[in-house]
Amino acid sequence: MKWSDLRRSSNVEDNRGGGGVPGGVGGASIGGIIIAVVAGLIFGVNPLEILSLMQGGDVAPAPQRQGQPIQDRDSDFVKAILGDTEDTWSRVFKQQLNATYQAPKLVLFSNSINSACGLGKAASGPFYCPADDKVYLDMSFFKQVQATAGADADFARAYAIAHEVGHHVQNQLGISTKVRQLQTRSDKATVNNLSVRLELQADCFAGVWGHYTAERNIIDGQDVKAAVNTATQIGDDYLQKQSRGYVVPEAFTHGSSEQRVSWFSRGLKSGNLKQCDTFSGG
Ligand SMILES: [Zn+2]
Repeated sequence: MKWSDLRRSSNVEDNRGGGGVPGGVGGASIGGIIIAVVAGLIFGVNPLEILSLMQGGDVAPAPQRQGQPIQDRDSDFVKAILGDTEDTWSRVFKQQLNATYQAPKLVLFSNSINSACGLGKAASGPFYCPADDKVYLDMSFFKQVQATAGADADFARAYAIAHEVGHHVQNQLGISTKVRQLQTRSDKATVNNLSVRLELQADCFAGVWGHYTAERNIIDGQDVKAAVNTATQIGDDYLQKQSRGYVVPEAFTHGSSEQRVSWFSRGLKSGNLKQCDTFSGG
């Protein structure tokens, strides 16, 4: 995946390390960081606090020049992918719906975080909160993806971000609200079925994004294979087998691996929102 030239989004909020340090250590020089870390090791003080003192007060977010990886690779990568989803969805909204896309914010966190949807935990994986229009991404999830996807981890990670952004697109289009309303007057099986359809649509929307990245040669066949592989591995049937040793179809919330791959591919091939109607038909 060739992401180094992508525009970096300014909608990423860095809340790693317990929420105290927006922007991380972006404002410090390398020398300053080394001094702070060494001093921290010697005196047993948090290096961030030392950096903060060195800079005269709070560690402020650094003004960033585009495309310059001042921060760590992971957050730089997230900014690049989120930026690309912003450009792609702005274009798709304009061309296919004659509408304006409002980009979501993305919050990086570690361990746990307070969202308008409640407490997010690292173990629960990335999620989207419609109440505050934010995607929440825990960086330990990234490391987990790396362990699963290996060398192809980049696109697998991008796919995870694109899936959450897909939920934001559903929110923008009013789909999630409609589905939630329907769910309040449905029986348990229908509630679950609707949730699965929402999830599959987010996969299809991730595919729509993939269509336009493939068009610009940012991803290639190998990346797509890796993404499909990841979709297979994070399908509910796979996860359930792993955790319980058997599959309970009624408890599915994301759809089977096969369904996920199929809807992702549909979006990927067509690049068309209308191809992502997971709600009509069986
Ligand atoms: Zn989802």
